[in-house]
Amino acid sequence: MRFSRLVTYFRRLEETSSQNEMIAILAALFTEASTEEIDTICYFTLGRIAPAYQDVNLGMGGRTAGAAIALAADIDPETVEAEVREVGDYGDAAIRLVGRPARKFEEVFSFGDALSVEDVRRGLMAIARAGGPGSVETKKRILAAMVAGAAPEERRYLVRLVTGKMRLGVGEMTLLDGLASAYLGSKTARPPLEHAYDICTDIGLVAKTLRESGLSGVERISVSLYRPIRPMLAQRVPALSEIPKRIGSRVIAAEEKYDGERIQAHKDGSDVALFSRRLTDVTHQFPDIVEHVRRCVTAETAILDGEAVAFDVKSGTFHPFQKLMQRRRKYRVSEYAEQIPVTYKVFDLLYADGASYLRRSYPERHERLERIVVEEEHLALADRVIATNLEEITDFYLACIRRGLEGVVCKSCADDSYYRAGAREWQWIKWKRSYGTELADTLDLVVVGANAGKGKRAGTYGSLLCAAYNREEDVFQTVCGMGTGFTDEELAQLPGKLADARADRSPARVMVAEQAKPDFWFVPRYVLEVLGLEITESPVHTCGWDPETQRGLALRFPRFVRWRHEKSPEQATTVEEIAAMFREQRGEGR
Ligand code: AMP
Repeated sequence: MRFSRLVTYFRRLEETSSQNEMIAILAALFTEASTEEIDTICYFTLGRIAPAYQDVNLGMGGRTAGAAIALAADIDPETVEAEVREVGDYGDAAIRLVGRPARKFEEVFSFGDALSVEDVRRGLMAIARAGGPGSVETKKRILAAMVAGAAPEERRYLVRLVTGKMRLGVGEMTLLDGLASAYLGSKTARPPLEHAYDICTDIGLVAKTLRESGLSGVERISVSLYRPIRPMLAQRVPALSEIPKRIGSRVIAAEEKYDGERIQAHKDGSDVALFSRRLTDVTHQFPDIVEHVRRCVTAETAILDGEAVAFDVKSGTFHPFQKLMQRRRKYRVSEYAEQIPVTYKVFDLLYADGASYLRRSYPERHERLERIVVEEEHLALADRVIATNLEEITDFYLACIRRGLEGVVCKSCADDSYYRAGAREWQWIKWKRSYGTELADTLDLVVVGANAGKGKRAGTYGSLLCAAYNREEDVFQTVCGMGTGFTDEELAQLPGKLADARADRSPARVMVAEQAKPDFWFVPRYVLEVLGLEITESPVHTCGWDPETQRGLALRFPRFVRWRHEKSPEQATTVEEIAAMFREQRGEGR
């Protein structure tokens, strides 16, 4: 196709504001396009030269393009800049300034009587490839050659393509609508094209395949190394307790949620390429991850999905990632990689040893992932628990928060828990600290009772009855029974640790409701720090007891953080503080 022909379509697309008309124009364009050029036409229409992941960079800003226009028109670059100031666009300036016949630059780039779409592609690729000393001059001369040989209207779009200012108003989905309309009879046939696009992220490939082999060809588009797959995304819910209901699977994997950068790693023997969430090639930014993947992944070929995080092994904390990346950009990447190494937390497998894993369930993908990854300090699988109820999820979530993480991502373990490229569906649900009403502060509570442990906990306590201090009445009122957050060792030590506080019956100053009566009593002596999800009203606990409603306040999902030996029971969190937290949680202020 002549470039001038494509330009008439561009003009029409630019002039319409009707979505349907845009689709009709695109459909006419695609019907006219040949198989060889349809991919290029797609890229150009979106204002690109190639798919994003190919990292084709022309390395030409507005000023260099201006200098090329000046060269073609044989005028001073300043005159071009002045014109741009007046008309507002290098493309339009090129129309006005370059007369015909303009200078020819056949020594750098030549073509026949008129530019074809293929000529333009060839020219732009030559600009992108020009490197080394003198490359700016070469780029300028190639563009000048094209501008000089182009008809006025062609210059506008040529220069806009080069300067990244195409702006036809055509989005990717509209383009797919146009393809569906041209080859499948209606834009309603878009979904399979969209699906193929999510998997290959190359809209040109989808178009070419459709043109060449029809819908069945498109449906066969599969995973390929060095072509990023659009990452699967997570849904969100208004309350943590919604997760088991929405996810559609009894068994749920709760994984640590890291606040870093999504990275998809492609390994082919000893070659490794890395892609960002936005599908750009970021291999050079993470030389350390490249090295870890090479060493730790035993499969010959593989595609992994995960998150790059900056974990400081010494302090055991995560560095804020954005900050780290800014610093890495400023200083030399490799130097910085040594100072604060990046850890790659892998959570999914999309391809291994020649086979796509997209249509395998999450448990299957994970099982294979475990087999092909040899974990090291800086490449590890995301920590997770397999849960079957809300309590286990909440428990894991609180443990994550305690380690300074952002939250959890819960993943369905159902048979159809496929990797859905590009989709934000209910198979993955995230829960972040900032979403919840969970308490930012921990509470310091006093141990006043314990229940006997059963099963695995036989011989120690199953849970501790904890109380807050009511300063006004100088009593201790219970707020929760707590059985989680202890290590096995801490659990085993409990009876010994609390032995000297044991009492035969309910001690003075301890207020316990009938339903909360424990197996063992303790005088208020030991204080511990507790993290909880939220404060609720409860008839079981006496904290802030309201005789009228017969309810007190309770801490939901309490979790042991540490002992506070330096605190006396009277220095524990007060009932007034807990009541204030409850009011704040309900948005009533303090
Ligand atoms: P958000 O950016 O808040 O929408 O959360 C989704 C992002 O969390 C994903 O795109 C990943 O980059 C990141 N993430 C961190 N940990 C995980 C994980 N275990 N599973 C999936 N995504 C994760």
